[in-house]
Amino acid sequence: MKRARVPPAEPSGASEEERLRARLASERKARVEAEEIAEHTLRDLYEKQRDLDLMEAVAAASNIAQTVEEAMQVAIDHICAQTGWPVGHVYVPGHGTGVELVPTEIWHLDDPERFEAFRELTEGMILAPGEGLPGRIFESGRPVWVVDVTQDPNFSLAKAATDIGVRAAFGFPALVGDDVVAVLEFFSPSPAEPDESLLDLVHHVGSQLGRVVERTRARTELTRYSEELERHSRELERANGELKEFAYVASHDLSEPLRTISSFVQLLANRYRGRLDSDADEFIDFVVDGTERMRRLIDDLLGYSRVGSRPLDLEAVDCIRVLARVRLDLQGIIAESNASIEIGELPTINADPDQLQRLFENLISNAIKFGGPEPPRVRIFAERDGPKWRFSVIDNGIGIEPRHAERIFNVFQRLHAPGEYGGTGIGLSICKRIVERHGGRIWVEQAEGGGSAFRFTIPASGEDGH
Ligand code: ADP
Repeated sequence: MKRARVPPAEPSGASEEERLRARLASERKARVEAEEIAEHTLRDLYEKQRDLDLMEAVAAASNIAQTVEEAMQVAIDHICAQTGWPVGHVYVPGHGTGVELVPTEIWHLDDPERFEAFRELTEGMILAPGEGLPGRIFESGRPVWVVDVTQDPNFSLAKAATDIGVRAAFGFPALVGDDVVAVLEFFSPSPAEPDESLLDLVHHVGSQLGRVVERTRARTELTRYSEELERHSRELERANGELKEFAYVASHDLSEPLRTISSFVQLLANRYRGRLDSDADEFIDFVVDGTERMRRLIDDLLGYSRVGSRPLDLEAVDCIRVLARVRLDLQGIIAESNASIEIGELPTINADPDQLQRLFENLISNAIKFGGPEPPRVRIFAERDGPKWRFSVIDNGIGIEPRHAERIFNVFQRLHAPGEYGGTGIGLSICKRIVERHGGRIWVEQAEGGGSAFRFTIPASGEDGH
């Protein structure tokens, strides 16, 4: 049996229309959805851009702000502009105690006249932690949002809020670590639901402002520190000046009566030695010796204070010529001790010739004075060391233990009893002053094979002989 062939059902006019309508509806729905998505995305993008703009503006202002107040002002101005809220204000923790919030005069008011009463009331209120909107932020360290302050039992101005024209409020802290260093609060004339993304954004602004506070604190601390340092150094300079003057006046004025004592004791010795008993002769010798030591001490002290107070008389000085003069001045002790003085290569330097002579004289006479069992052998030479000359005065004497290497350059520091070696303990401190005034450094090392190696540097002038 042949099966009857069923022709495909012809779409009826009505169903075709339905299908088309359905397609149209679904297309329309898809388009509306797409449009919605686009609009959302666009709005999202727009909001993100606004957030970014705000962050950027606050960051830029924070970088250039000279004061915390300036940065806060910029932040509240920008937040008010972005939210459209007409009132922004800043509270800060009270000075010293930090347990209460005090109102500042930092405000953003779109319409100052309209919010005058609000401003006056706010500026009269000091808040404890937890009290009012700022107090809650201060206590929690987190942003707070109030939909309608007139309905909020913990809003200090709740009763007056309606009259003074504020309803919604939010605020956030500026934080340094966990410390709230300021509270920024904002008000709108109508109630508003919390805006999470805004709260998130202002949280970042709060950290940014915290950094400004931190930076300003560090700067203030630094300024205070450097001012203190300056004050100390001024005091030190003054004290130093007084000391110099005192040392000079004292040693100068002491030499006068000492000269009298010295001459009369000398007279006494010449006239009465051998005419009194032996004790008297001994006593006279003690006095002569004592006055002689005192004279040397006073001379050295005077020398020390002069080196510090007189201006340097700088000129090109040939060290070889200076040493020729030194050798002449010291010829007595050189001959007496049978010392050999070996002068190596020496440059021409920019120095005060008298002071340079004194420096070499002190070092060479010490090298001879503190000689060992062998006749003293003193070697003097200089080597170029970058921008300076390094001089050496090396002896074969008794040497200096490294632990005394620093202190021998201080005034009155001697390593021996006065009976052992003569001297006042001032010579090396004069050397140190001279070298330092010329911009150099002096130190002592142990010389090879015993003895001491005194080294000092003097800046090279550029036109030296070597
Ligand atoms: P003074 O020579 O008048 O005692 P200085 O200030 O010149 O005073 O020297 C301080 C001390 O350093 C000396 O007393 C001595 O102990 C030690 N000193 C200085 N130069 C030498 C040297 N070349 N060798 C060993 N000791 C020295």
